Amino acid sequence: MSESSELQTSVLACMDHRLDPVAILGINPHEAHVVRNAGGYVTEDAIRSICLSQQLVGTNRIVVLHHTDCAASRHSAEGYRALVEAGTGVSPTWDVEPVGDPRERVLAAMEQLRASPLLDTANLEGYVYDVDDGSLTSVE
Ligand SMILES: [Zn+2]
Repeated sequence: MSESSELQTSVLACMDHRLDPVAILGINPHEAHVVRNAGGYVTEDAIRSICLSQQLVGTNRIVVLHHTDCAASRHSAEGYRALVEAGTGVSPTWDVEPVGDPRERVLAAMEQLRASPLLDTANLEGYVYDVDDGSLTSVE
């Protein structure tokens, strides 16, 4: 992280390999902080990173970017727990709460970000990227 007058945007996106957030959003890679996790969920760590991006560097735009065919929507919360337990022998301390419709997931994420007193959400945008046709749809 470094000071930059060009840096304006923090992006919260899914970690899916088909998603290249800065390219999809048409942002110069040097002009964004990109926070990624499985599903692009609003986690405490995502809020921490976006908060520090705003407070330390002065980014003032948040973009939530999710996509179609997300692997984080393929199982139930119980299904993910069983999957992790079967693969590791350990029950995870976290849950994956899948939401089938990416548009609904973006709206939920935007609502969660707005609810955080740690974030400036005056410039908050949400998008769904279609991994099949490459289109980007704004969610409001
Ligand atoms: Zn995904």
